[in-house]
Amino acid sequence: MPLPAWLQTKIGSVERTAEPPPVLARYLTVAGAPVAIRSIGCDASGDAVSVTVAECGGCPAAEYWPWADSYWADPAGEDEDLWSETEARTWAQTHAETCRALPMEG
Ligand SMILES: [Zn+2]
Repeated sequence: MPLPAWLQTKIGSVERTAEPPPVLARYLTVAGAPVAIRSIGCDASGDAVSVTVAECGGCPAAEYWPWADSYWADPAGEDEDLWSETEARTWAQTHAETCRALPMEG
């Protein structure tokens, strides 16, 4: 499902900064669309966002994992953004294997 509006707004503001968050990984769907994973710590105004986001470039599918959720998944874990990245990679891999939407233009 698409990302919630508040998060899309945050991501939009981050993308307009001089240093947008780098793409950590890309997975290609069977149709050749990229599923991109990014970690977003702050928005353009410096407000904490602290999520890892995975978005499909072929269809509206997207998911996000708040870093804070790592505590509930693994209280002994240390790297909360690493947990989110692992979850995001698993989702991206699964989605890439099933999504048949063609890459969107632009
Ligand atoms: Zn897709």
